[in-house]
Amino acid sequence: MENKILGLHHITAIAGNAKRNHDFYTKVLGLRMVKKTVNFDDPGTYHFYFGDETGSPGSILTFFPWEGIGQGRTGAGMATEIGYSVPAGSLEFWAARFDQLKVAHGPIRESFGEQYLPFTDPDGLNLNLVVSAKNDTRKPWTTDEVAEVVAIRGFHNIVLTLHEMRETGEVLTDIFGYRLSATEASRTRFITDEIEHASIVDIIEVPDEKPGINAAGTNHHVAFRVSNEEVLMNFRDKIIAKGFSITPKIDRDYFFSLYFREPGGVLFELATDNPGFARDEAPEALGTSLKLPTQYESYRSKIEASLPKLD
Ligand code: ZN
Repeated sequence: MENKILGLHHITAIAGNAKRNHDFYTKVLGLRMVKKTVNFDDPGTYHFYFGDETGSPGSILTFFPWEGIGQGRTGAGMATEIGYSVPAGSLEFWAARFDQLKVAHGPIRESFGEQYLPFTDPDGLNLNLVVSAKNDTRKPWTTDEVAEVVAIRGFHNIVLTLHEMRETGEVLTDIFGYRLSATEASRTRFITDEIEHASIVDIIEVPDEKPGINAAGTNHHVAFRVSNEEVLMNFRDKIIAKGFSITPKIDRDYFFSLYFREPGGVLFELATDNPGFARDEAPEALGTSLKLPTQYESYRSKIEASLPKLD
């Protein structure tokens, strides 16, 4: 298991307004803000991390909220749906909550034998709450309004929409150790047995789908989980041996990363468990103060003054 891909690590998407994004994920969905930092390449923009109590790999959805960015378009060559795992019997609670809070959602549906509730966030990002076929024992973050019996456990799956799935499927099976588990119409499910949850990648093959445009309401990249930097670099060698270009190891403060574009056009990342979100904040205080990478610390007051207010 050590030298394997352990399902999803995090997913990163784009939002158009910081406060609206923050309020939706922490208040409506009841996730924990586990880290509030800035885009390392653009420190005038926040980088939010939402997840469970500790920001466990497989629970982390991150956003770059770019104020005033245009609306993106969901389409081919991108991750197009994010699936969160919720307990059996909770979808009615969520549908009623979404009605009450005016969150756009569809009816409860079924796919691969699992019930799910599709909804969109305030930027139009497509998400699903899914009752996993596997009992999900992960401990959720809870709030006054979202109790343990209904709370989000972490990711269930990610859905990629592609013109052609063969080569991407081969990355998943031949490099990442996933196996093809089922096909349903144009959807093909890949799963890894190395981890209990956040272990599914679904591919929708749509040959004539318009390419996606990466802006507000769309996903930026999908990060897969490895346990440490040694495994990370082993995968780097494997990916290069298959003929792909990949970045050097990048220090993301809370994990180490590599990025490469898979043949279907989706930006894939590999990210480590170490060092994790408690490296610069006590576990009980995660997400409560603005954390800056060292190179920006001397500009703190200027950065804080330029960032949008969240209260
Ligand atoms: Zn990432």
